[in-house]
Amino acid sequence: MASKKMVSKNQIFRALGLKSRLKGANCGGEWFADSKDYITSVNPTTGEVLARIEQASAKDYDKVMKEARKAFLEFRNMPAPLRGEIVRQVGEALREKKDMLGALVSLEMGKIYTEGLGEVQEMIDICDFAVGLSRTLSGPTLQSERPKHRMMEQWHPLGVVGVISAFNFPVAVWAWNTALAWVCGDSSLWKPSSKTPLCAIACQNIVNEVFKANGLPQGVSCVTIGRGATIGEKLVGDHNIPLVSATGSTRMGQRIGAVVGGRLGRTILELGGNNAIIISEKADLKGALASAFFGAVGTAGQRCTSTRRLIIQEKVFDTFVRKLIANYKRVVIGNPLDPKTLMGPLIDEGAVADYENAIKAAKEQGGKVLYGGKVLKPFGAATFVQPTIIEIENKAQIVQDETFAPILYVMKYKKIAQAFKLHNDVPQGLSSAIYTDSVNEGEAFISYLGSDCGIANINIGTSGAEIGGAFGGEKETGGGRESGSDSWKLYMRRQTNTINWGGEVHLAQGVEFKS
Ligand code: NAD
Repeated sequence: MASKKMVSKNQIFRALGLKSRLKGANCGGEWFADSKDYITSVNPTTGEVLARIEQASAKDYDKVMKEARKAFLEFRNMPAPLRGEIVRQVGEALREKKDMLGALVSLEMGKIYTEGLGEVQEMIDICDFAVGLSRTLSGPTLQSERPKHRMMEQWHPLGVVGVISAFNFPVAVWAWNTALAWVCGDSSLWKPSSKTPLCAIACQNIVNEVFKANGLPQGVSCVTIGRGATIGEKLVGDHNIPLVSATGSTRMGQRIGAVVGGRLGRTILELGGNNAIIISEKADLKGALASAFFGAVGTAGQRCTSTRRLIIQEKVFDTFVRKLIANYKRVVIGNPLDPKTLMGPLIDEGAVADYENAIKAAKEQGGKVLYGGKVLKPFGAATFVQPTIIEIENKAQIVQDETFAPILYVMKYKKIAQAFKLHNDVPQGLSSAIYTDSVNEGEAFISYLGSDCGIANINIGTSGAEIGGAFGGEKETGGGRESGSDSWKLYMRRQTNTINWGGEVHLAQGVEFKS
């Protein structure tokens, strides 16, 4: 696609097999649904209805689950490197459709096109990662205390993995989970956000073609589209699903954690963040400025890793904030598919209400708006807002909460120990960063005495993780890890084996038991 010309909805729909009327359940063949209950996909930029989707009913869900179970029993027989070959082909198919899928992400979710493309690139990257992984799903051989015995660990396929995703990463989170699940020998059942159903349908259409061409059983990749309270709750309570990987708000995670925990299932919970950058007086302020700007304004503040707080040393506070405001003034707000745009809309009017309420609360709690604070209507729909900077104390309740909007709270510190304390003094623990040229400050920040987050960076921002590392956070962020490193272990069943090759029976711990 030429970057100068905006792609149209019709081009995107044609390329990805989308229509204005769709059905919300699929396990490889035709899409189906008989709930007579519809959700609409809405373009957040204009308020235009893009498509109407009939949600999966409870009966549709049961049909999908039956296929997913059956597929798992067959798919697990395929050697892992051959499963990796299928995932390699999925990565290739995504490369071919990258432009259009990236454009669909912009159209339906509202992030700017370069970020839509970046999200599809994450899918491609995780496929590449999973292909390599498919040959290295290894367990250790361990020393046995018994003579002529060997111990080892094996990793076996787990079952049907449930994936619940949030609206803000409508395609990548699914790929992060499924690329690993598939090489691990699992089938997957995806419940996407009901705010971004078209992204899910497009992804499933791409995968269906690859799976069909390889003669894979129906049901390795399944989707049920519906609201959290209906189809989501059904998935979460389903004993057929040993692992639920859920991405979304902390409130949703608390509910899912309780239900899945209640049936002693396994969860990966990827929940809200409240990410901060500490900016030391010893920092390269130019780098810090670029990172803070992207972290807070990128994706209109709708990333779990968005920078929400800046904790700035008092000597550089005024200069830094002045420069940041100058950058904010230059932000082009508009259609996310327009290459000139730097910030698109919020997902819906509910998100705008959250933005307005947060600003009102911040003012009531002693905050001072330094820039922004207004709702904009460039296209009629009230989904655009100004990126906003508020000076406020960390302890204000509104700063403690995650507001999923481009609001950045700025605050001062004197001594680095105080900055660390402020940094950790929030309920969430996802991503964090320090800008400093002091080795001691940097090392301390990533030490056990520093950041309490799952991600802690030095001289890069909080936003934009690579797929090679394990991704996730602590505290109210849920404790889950997905994507790179050894996250794959959560998608498999661990088995410890002891093998006696000597013939004689020896009991562990020297126990004697003879008649
Ligand atoms: P949300 O919690 O409203 O919804 C997330 C998903 O959960 C949706 O698919 C929704 O339908 C489903 N859901 C809601 N209630 C459910 C229930 N009772 N049972 C089953 N499913 C249910 O979140 P959102 O508004 O779509 O996304 C924004 C939130 O997601 C933010 O808090 C953000 O920080 C978080 N997020 C976290 C990460 C991460 O990796 N930590 C990544 C992306 C987004």
